[in-house]
Amino acid sequence: MRQYIILTVFLISIFSCRNADKKEETKLEKVQVQLHVLDGGKIVVNKLELFSEDTTYQGQSKVLADPYYVVIHPKGKLIWDGGLPENLVGVEPLTDPSGGFTVSRKDSVKNQLKSIGLNINDIDYIALSHSHLDHVGHANSFKNSTWLVQESEYDYFLNDSAKIKHGDIYNLLKDLKKVSKLTGDYDVFGDSTVVIKSMPGHTIGHQVLYLDLGLDQPILLTGDLYHFEENRTYQRVPIFNYNIDQTKKSMKAFEAFAKSNNADVFIQHSFKDYERLKTLIND
Ligand SMILES: [Zn+2]
Repeated sequence: MRQYIILTVFLISIFSCRNADKKEETKLEKVQVQLHVLDGGKIVVNKLELFSEDTTYQGQSKVLADPYYVVIHPKGKLIWDGGLPENLVGVEPLTDPSGGFTVSRKDSVKNQLKSIGLNINDIDYIALSHSHLDHVGHANSFKNSTWLVQESEYDYFLNDSAKIKHGDIYNLLKDLKKVSKLTGDYDVFGDSTVVIKSMPGHTIGHQVLYLDLGLDQPILLTGDLYHFEENRTYQRVPIFNYNIDQTKKSMKAFEAFAKSNNADVFIQHSFKDYERLKTLIND
């Protein structure tokens, strides 16, 4: 009998130790990551046919959102994407010479960060889904932050010929001197909560962002892998992409990754997803 009692006490103590360990583990694992969604402007696509290789969208137009994001992790803060150029703030919407796009932006990143209690210098890392004009707008403001960029993207957009060929983009990125060049996926804080995924094709070093905010599902921000829902459904590729085959491969890889992680996908330029994400994180 005595032996039985001792054994029981022993087992109970092991069990409670294990439980305590487990509690401690969950406490350690449960990192609080916060997300803010901010407004980097609006794009009216006057010639939607630019967004497909065929004539599907001929004669159509569409309004796109252009948000950017601030991720707050205990180990640092990351800004994802850069909205439209800030010289659009306070002026009439601007149409590009080809007439394809009309763009506008309401406020500067400095003011918008202030609205969530942050300053430019609070941001440790800047990462852009890619280097197109509607994603690099306020990048130069973050010259004290570390720029997380695919090496291929950096080499393509930041050299002497790019200065001539893509002058506008070059000028909006050139002040970023603290550069961390990536060659593939990158776990920003080392705990799998904030992961940059390499998804080339739209540009040579295009990337998307995986976020585990501790919600029911992790979040996937598409960058410009898709600009709106129909292009995701039918895997349509804009005619201005850097590499069509590479884009299609990235789309496949993205969908497989989203499925295996049960991720909630947010198309960054979709107004519907922009509103849905704001609602989700404010609930
Ligand atoms: Zn783009």
